[in-house]
Amino acid sequence: EVSVRVEDVSFQYANEQTNALQNVSFQVYKGEWVTIVGHNGSGKSTLAKLLIGLLPPTSGTIHVCGIPLNEETVWDVRERLGIVFQNPDNQFVGTTVQDDVAFGLENRGIQKEEMKKRINEALKKVKMEDFIHHEPHRLSGGQKQRVAIASAIALQPNIIILDEATSMLDPSGKKEVLHVMQSLRREHDMTVISITHDLNEVAKADRVIVMNKGKIVLEGTPAHIFAYG
Ligand code: ADP
Ligand code: ADP
Repeated sequence: EVSVRVEDVSFQYANEQTNALQNVSFQVYKGEWVTIVGHNGSGKSTLAKLLIGLLPPTSGTIHVCGIPLNEETVWDVRERLGIVFQNPDNQFVGTTVQDDVAFGLENRGIQKEEMKKRINEALKKVKMEDFIHHEPHRLSGGQKQRVAIASAIALQPNIIILDEATSMLDPSGKKEVLHVMQSLRREHDMTVISITHDLNEVAKADRVIVMNKGKIVLEGTPAHIFAYG
């Protein structure tokens, strides 16, 4: 089952001569963990913005869970996506971990009982259930990102996108988050797409997409990618 299908996608910023993305095609299957790697400027963030419908492709098509992404479907598509960004401190809205995870659920009008259940389940999945009444800002980097992941998965997305979500973390924080990413796809059958510079993260994924100058230059299992150096 295909989760994300990107077909012949190109993107050009209005003020730029060259395409930030050039004829990019790939698929991500349900329950698969794919990492996207590449030098700065290779087009990773642009690709992430296209996947979440923040920018429309200049040409080509994107399907998310079988839905063709366009102006009319963008909100429907976003409900299927959870997104976690680089800086854990920029994504907290609640004064406690519980409030923080509740925020998105409240916005969707989820009832109290269901909300409690979802908060507890999400925090369990990231092993943060013991921190439910803690202040997010006082947590370690790895704990903060796990709360950010919990807030995303409480909304029950099909796919979680992590845009350099481990890059500001210390080694132990990185390890915690990678562990969570693994369990999300193995135990909870979620599709995970992570943009990263971290080789440990690349090694743990099912598949790696290497980008350079807006193109996919290599794609394969971590073993395959590492063999090419
Ligand atoms: P990465 O995430 O891999 O570092 P980006 O997607 O940010 O790469 O950038 C890809 C290319 O698009 C780069 O050449 C970058 O300078 C350009 N770019 C990114 N954002 C913009 C923008 N808002 N306006 C113009 N050019 C941009
Ligand atoms: P990243 O590698 O994480 O994309 P960047 O430094 O490339 O970080 O980009 C940071 C922000 O600046 C992004 O929002 C990106 O869209 C924007 N940006 C990047 N390159 C350009 C550019 N050439 N012109 C305008 N905005 C840009």
